[in-house]
Amino acid sequence: MAAVLEAKLLIDGRWVDGGPPVEVRNKYSGEVIGTLPAARREDVDAAVAAAARAAAVMAEMPAHRRSEILSRTAALIRERRDEFARTIAAEAGKALKYARAEVDRGIMTFTIAAEEARRLHGETVPLDAVPAGEGYFGFWIRRPVGVVAAISPFNFPLNLVAHKVAPALAAGNTVVLKPATATPLTAVNLCRALAEAGLPGGAINLIVGPGSTVGEWLVTHPQVAKVTFTGSPAVGERIMSIAGIKKVTLELGNTSPVIIAPDADLDFVAKRCAVGAYYNSGQVCISVQRIYSERKVYEPFTERFVQASRAMVVGDPLDERVDVGPMIDVREAERIEGWVQEAMAGGARVLTGGKRDGAVYWPTVLSEVKPEMKVVAQETFAPVASVIATDDFEDALRQADATEYGLQAAVFTRDISRIFQAVRRLNFGGVIINDTPVFRADHMPYGGMRRSGIGREGVRYAMEEMTNIQMVVIRLAD
Ligand code: NAP
Repeated sequence: MAAVLEAKLLIDGRWVDGGPPVEVRNKYSGEVIGTLPAARREDVDAAVAAAARAAAVMAEMPAHRRSEILSRTAALIRERRDEFARTIAAEAGKALKYARAEVDRGIMTFTIAAEEARRLHGETVPLDAVPAGEGYFGFWIRRPVGVVAAISPFNFPLNLVAHKVAPALAAGNTVVLKPATATPLTAVNLCRALAEAGLPGGAINLIVGPGSTVGEWLVTHPQVAKVTFTGSPAVGERIMSIAGIKKVTLELGNTSPVIIAPDADLDFVAKRCAVGAYYNSGQVCISVQRIYSERKVYEPFTERFVQASRAMVVGDPLDERVDVGPMIDVREAERIEGWVQEAMAGGARVLTGGKRDGAVYWPTVLSEVKPEMKVVAQETFAPVASVIATDDFEDALRQADATEYGLQAAVFTRDISRIFQAVRRLNFGGVIINDTPVFRADHMPYGGMRRSGIGREGVRYAMEEMTNIQMVVIRLAD
């Protein structure tokens, strides 16, 4: 049995006690792997107050110093790659190979932030473009907002925290971080690395505890200037309604569609779709969920996809050979089991999978689904994908876009006119051609339209959302 990590809250540069303990479990074995105290209201207030005091220090810190701290953090994560990956695999149930890939992306996100910290700048404004501006000189600069409240989900305990913390610090802000209660240990490791890298006390504060209390105390705190949230649309909506006058970025869910044109390489597409649907047990906001293929390639594609789905190795995420581990908890596995049963009762067919053992749900392919079924209309957030035949490309585009979400969509085709038709017709924050919607490079603008959210992440874009533009106008002397 691995040692239990007894962690604390990080407030004002010190690891401190709080309220009753929160247990963190290995999501496959169920054993306790860590404990932390839940934050009380006074701990949240203390964390925000510390961040507010440190805001002046960070805002004054030269860009090259901020950059060095972020680079050093990236180097420390790299040194501890295996420890980070094992913690992610244990607390999130993510297969070790994908946990390692997440750590590598986290290193990248901090490295990109270190670079972007050096080039955050404004612009001159030609005020004399209007008669009233004659004799004036204008420019704008970006000022850090101050205290950023960062609330993250369970599915990427390192990289989705990195996408909030790294740009916030790169832009000269301070942070109060509330990670998901299911996966706070990776955040503890990250905060240790930031402190060792030389970040001043109070610039990063870590609090844990239920979103419905701790999260809401944080979001509504008057000294918080910006809320950056990644999680479910329901919680995003709640945050939007209670935050008050603050900047808010919301990275929410999706029902990611994939469109397969007849000219696509079906062997390749089937393999990529299987990885995109089942990686992290489908608990990825851009996981492959709805696969539309034109009728003439529907059968050959489906056959290949079912085969690729069956080839996935299911089991303990800490086993190197495993592709698909457990879902985050039994309740979530039971939820998706219920959705699949409901779809079957409505006429859907299970081509493979449809099986559950505790928190583990097997990679599942559904056919003959209807647009109104939950497995199509709502975010499955589980290793379940549906194959749907379409009349033609136009029909596929129409069905793919008929959703209240709009994060990323994908199209497999070599036809340039189809590619541009798709770009025009798909109302998604990202359109991926010849790969699945799961593609993300950590410096690209990333975020949703419609119910998938507000704002963009991708380091530079997040930094823009975490700064205020300040305009300077100088009347030139005669
Ligand atoms: P969640 O239940 O919305 O929780 C996300 C975070 O919000 C957790 O830290 C949670 O705390 C906290 N929270 C819950 N209620 C809150 C409230 N009333 N006020 C403030 N904070 C609150 O989401 P999840 O289950 O962890 O993650 C799954 C969802 O995230 C999916 O919908 C997925 O699509 C989305 N997601 C989106 C992206 C993206 O980039 N667009 C990326 C990954 C995931 P507790 O842990 O204590 O509940």
